[in-house]
Amino acid sequence: MSSAIPWKWTLLRAGAFRLDGGSMFGLIPRTIWSKWVEADALNRIELQTNCILLRRGEEVALIEAGYGAKWTAKERSIYELEHRTVIDALREQGVEPESVSTIILSHLHFDHAAGLTIQRDMNDPTTISSTFPRARIVVQRREWDDAIAGRSTMTRTYFKSHLDPIARQMDLVAGTREVLDGVVVEPLPGHTWGMQSIRFSDERGMVVFGGDIIPTPPHIHRSASLGYDMLPHENMLQKERFLNRAAEEKWRIVLSHDPSGAVYEVQHDERGWFQLSPSAALS
Ligand SMILES: [Zn+2]
Repeated sequence: MSSAIPWKWTLLRAGAFRLDGGSMFGLIPRTIWSKWVEADALNRIELQTNCILLRRGEEVALIEAGYGAKWTAKERSIYELEHRTVIDALREQGVEPESVSTIILSHLHFDHAAGLTIQRDMNDPTTISSTFPRARIVVQRREWDDAIAGRSTMTRTYFKSHLDPIARQMDLVAGTREVLDGVVVEPLPGHTWGMQSIRFSDERGMVVFGGDIIPTPPHIHRSASLGYDMLPHENMLQKERFLNRAAEEKWRIVLSHDPSGAVYEVQHDERGWFQLSPSAALS
């Protein structure tokens, strides 16, 4: 089924936000991580919701959907959510939500999945509906089951109001699958049990989106896991495997929350670990 025709892709910025730096670096002490990234007066670090627009002929697909706009003023200030969504990012590329036929998500935490729904009246929760009514939405069945059951150490990341309106659109897969011509998902457990990577080829070779396995460049460090990871040790092992494959197979990897370039190549360094070098964002 896989075709040799490469995809054209564009990195989308679906909105900036901030999270607590300590939570973002797990067991790494502040004295260390504060040398890697600058924190604000509230100890938060700058992040971005990186998404990918995939196009080939008439086919329009989207990887990740950002945090959307269904937020109160208080929630906006906690996370410093920018007034911007994946819809803004798509329109800048001349794409309307109705023309997106496939959406693939790494996992269903709010900063990846809440953009799948819109709320017309912020005072009326019955006005929530699907942002992309024509799209098939692909996640691992395990991720969907855990999200619906609220299985997370974070009590406010899987919201029923984000998930119920899209339930009929879900295409739940189990394991490694080609979900669109030349686009392959593969389980990448660690951050959640059901997280998946998404890979495809452009004219230069393989591009891989690894969800939150390495959200920003400093997370390349072996023990830099997120306080939110369900399985920190598994994540560490998967990260080493992921980086090994990226270096051997010359992948370009796209980092989920990097506010800078977000696209990198991976090399082995002289100490037996890995380093990132910036690559092009566009094919
Ligand atoms: Zn995330």
